[in-house]
Order: sequence, then structure tokens, then C-alpha cells
Amino acid sequence: MATITSNLQQQRARIAAATQAAGRPVESVTLLVVSKTFPADAVREAIAAGARRFGENYVQEGLEKIAALADHRAQIEWHLIGPLQSNKTRLVAENFDWVHSVDRLKTAQRLSEQRPPELPPLNICLQVNTSGEASKSGVAPADLPALAAAVAQLPRLRLRGLMGVPEPTADFETQRHAHRQLAELQHALQQAAPGPHLALDTLSMGMSADLEAAIAEGATMVRVGSAIFGARRYAA
Ligand SMILES: *Cc1c(COP(=O)(O)O)cnc(C)c1O
Repeated sequence: MATITSNLQQQRARIAAATQAAGRPVESVTLLVVSKTFPADAVREAIAAGARRFGENYVQEGLEKIAALADHRAQIEWHLIGPLQSNKTRLVAENFDWVHSVDRLKTAQRLSEQRPPELPPLNICLQVNTSGEASKSGVAPADLPALAAAVAQLPRLRLRGLMGVPEPTADFETQRHAHRQLAELQHALQQAAPGPHLALDTLSMGMSADLEAAIAEGATMVRVGSAIFGARRYAA
């Protein structure tokens, strides 16, 4: 288990090297530790090693870990990064700090309505489908400006930026190209600036295999799972 601590150190070093290569301050990139499929004990070790932000893909699994780690709740942030069905929005609004995977207005409206008044606004990234494959989650780039403008008006949400999950490829330039598309969409939204709710300080892109390419293109939050916890084994 001590490997989680050393893997975390390695990933921080990777981020530092990538920010330096890009001429960016090291603190301009935040590490989101993706803990999906790994037990609460693994998260506990990552917390002990200084990790403070965790990403989960499945609502139920995330809720179980949030409950198991309730003693750390004030210290850490929980981010939902996987697809969100509308019948699960209430539990997400009540328990998570961020949702990266919003791609339709209906989901955003429910999250805003269901966010408990005693909690701060829920942080939102809009997931964009830049590859154009119909099977993939994410709003189409052409529909993004209208969705962003509408989500920015919702009172209990705070629109922070965009999330991308490009097709896996080993080629660095192809990785960069996909990340650049998302960065350009974010830039265009910032130029349009449709209102005071639109801070747009977050570009959530880059994972274990492509975080250097993502940081080169302006990622502010990289989502790293297997490079920290090891290969995932899904239940059969
Ligand atoms: C699983 C997952 C990650 C982490 O992927 P790794 O390759 O394990 O780093 C990041 N983002 C999303 C949306 C994921 O589903």
C-alpha cells in the first residue's frame, strides 16, 4: 500500500515537469485523484499522503466512499466525473462538491433545484464531445454556447469550465490536438462572457496516459487514477 504514496509523489513530479515545460506555474494545475473501483482504505492512504480531491464515476460507489470517509469530509472534495442519470441528481446535489459530466440542461436544472441551501453552490463542468461520435457522452460543440449560457443562470450552480475525455491514443501530437479543441471552446466561451456567474477557471482534461499533452494545452485539473492506484479490476 505504500506504493500509493510514492505513486502520488511521482504524479506530482510529472505535473511539475509538464507545467515547467509549458512555462506555466506549477500551482496552475490541480490533481484530481480518480478513486473509482478502489476501496475507501486506498483513498485514506492518499489522504494521508496529502491528496485532497477525489473523482468517482459511479454515484452509488461514490456515496459509499463519502460515507466511509465521513471523518475526512471537511478536508476533502468529492467530484463526480462519470455519467449522471436524472434519477440520481438529488443524491449528487446533496453529497458531492463538483460534477464534471453535465451535458444537458435538464440535469443541471435538477442539480440546482436539489442543491441543499446550507451548502455552497455545486461546482459544474460541462462535458464536451469533441470527437463527434454519437455514442459518446458530452454536449456537441455547436450546442455548447447555449448550454453554458443557460447553466450559468442557475442559482445553485457555479459553472467552472469544461471537461473532456478524448479518444485514447499513444501519439502525443494527436493527444494535444484533442485537448486543444477543448481549450479553444473554453476560450470562445470566455470571450462571449454571458454573465457574472461565468468564472470559467477550470479546464478538466488529461488522465494517466496523456496529462503532459493536456497541460501543454492549458489543463487546470488533471484526473489521474491508474497511475496512482494501479490497474482497475472491474467486477465481472
Ligand atoms: C477513469 C477516469 C479517469 C482516470 O483514468 P486513468 O487512466 O486511470 O488515469 C479520468 N477521467 C474519467 C472521466 C474517467 O472515467
